[in-house]
Amino acid sequence: MRRIGVLALQGAFAEHCDILIKVGAEPIEIRQKSDYTKKQPDGLILPGGESTVIGKLLKELDLLDELKDSINNGLPVFGTCAGMILLAKKILPEHELHLGTMDIEVRRNAYGRQLGSFSTEAMFQGVGIVPMTFIRAPYIESIYPGVEVLATVDEHMVAARQKNMLVTSFHPELTKDDRIHRFFVENIG
Ligand code: GLN
Repeated sequence: MRRIGVLALQGAFAEHCDILIKVGAEPIEIRQKSDYTKKQPDGLILPGGESTVIGKLLKELDLLDELKDSINNGLPVFGTCAGMILLAKKILPEHELHLGTMDIEVRRNAYGRQLGSFSTEAMFQGVGIVPMTFIRAPYIESIYPGVEVLATVDEHMVAARQKNMLVTSFHPELTKDDRIHRFFVENIG
């Protein structure tokens, strides 16, 4: 997997592009449907931001069903924070426009206002202890068969994988540590 699309509609996409270059991949910014259909990347990153806004933009740009089909057909995808929310089959509290391809139930803004943003370090299966930056983050409330939990913080599931899909509640692109991107590029798909 070398050419990785980064959804560049809103939120923290530039940092993902920088880190992809560091791990030897070529980032491809996806701003409209033709960026995706013409360049046919080997994988996709859905960055953090505001999941309701990104979901609406995906629909408006006619990318929602396109990406959903690709992911269901095996396109490797990595969703961070809002990206994780977009991939979840179920979102609490509910919002409509999302990809819904991964068998997880996710709670938005799960840490409340007080703990809106924080950093910690924890074990990430297959990678080691990594720094984790949370910004108004969701966590995974339940998983269904086929989903492997890769990290927990304070007993909450914050990273998981199912087949071609990888998700984190936190933002690995906001740290200097590139190991989770490397893990995605080398192992998912
Ligand atoms: N709170 C945002 C949402 O619900 C996610 C925040 C983030 O991506 N950093 O979509």
